[in-house]
Amino acid sequence: MQDTIIIDGHEISSNENKELQLNVGTLPSDTVISIHAHIYRGKEDGPTLLFLGGVHGDEINGVESIRHCIEEGYFEKITKGTIIAIPLLNVFGFINFSREVPDGKDVNRSFPGTTLGSLASRVARTLTKKILPHVDYAFDFHTGGASRYNYPQIRYTKDDMASLELAKVFNAPFTIMKATIPNSFRRSCKDLNIPAIIFEGGESIRLDGFAISAAVRGIINILRHFKCTNNEIDSGKIRNIHIKKTTWERAAFSGLFTWSKKSGTKIQIGEPLGTIKNPFGTKTATVISRRNGYIIGHNNASVVNQGDALFHIGYEAEEI
Ligand SMILES: [Zn+2]
Repeated sequence: MQDTIIIDGHEISSNENKELQLNVGTLPSDTVISIHAHIYRGKEDGPTLLFLGGVHGDEINGVESIRHCIEEGYFEKITKGTIIAIPLLNVFGFINFSREVPDGKDVNRSFPGTTLGSLASRVARTLTKKILPHVDYAFDFHTGGASRYNYPQIRYTKDDMASLELAKVFNAPFTIMKATIPNSFRRSCKDLNIPAIIFEGGESIRLDGFAISAAVRGIINILRHFKCTNNEIDSGKIRNIHIKKTTWERAAFSGLFTWSKKSGTKIQIGEPLGTIKNPFGTKTATVISRRNGYIIGHNNASVVNQGDALFHIGYEAEEI
């Protein structure tokens, strides 16, 4: 039997589910903005898992992935441990179709946050103070920013074997080692000794069925691993490529960009990946790979400037 937990003054006992509204602020219209958190508790003692979406308000694949799991009842049926599901952290960004909160600040650069700080800092603080003290393992769902598409991938923390183990269990097509960014959610988790992984899949504003399926399958794999569920769905092991280093192929010229190799593709040095053409039919440049590796993300922008990131390449790769 699990002990009762108290979140934001609400008691949630063993074998009980609750929906909480955590207040973060108000809009200029005086409309109250709160973070909607679902708490699911199994009967048996077990770990607390946080599934978090929409830290960037326009990265809606994560929102949809967690929403789908709630709708399907995957969390409701847990027998062991606790699930905290927050499909949408950054409500401000979501209603503005924006990565940031209205003052232009990025929640994922505002951790651990302060009570009297900017909106982004207050959102971060609410999560840090009210939710993270209860969490044993954290899963944060993102997409590529702007027009960049990410092939479904897990990012785990360098030198943190517990997060690598979570990545293996999650079983996305790519597992990528990344140092944590200062003031990010993952850095806060690291400071609090909470193993955390980031799922990246698809691009902002657009729902992507392939990325959402990969995210949902990963969530089920995690629930099964921690024996939270008796769910016998066999999600099936897929090929998982472990990547230790990443680099960007950038635009050497400005112009109209068309990719010919897409994300997920294995590539070799010298291979053409796409073209950039000037608008007048007089100049065409080919984007060539400088590495042997995999395309883990690409830019869907049709007009690019010199220096723009075009292809995210993963190398030093091996199957795990
Ligand atoms: Zn993001």
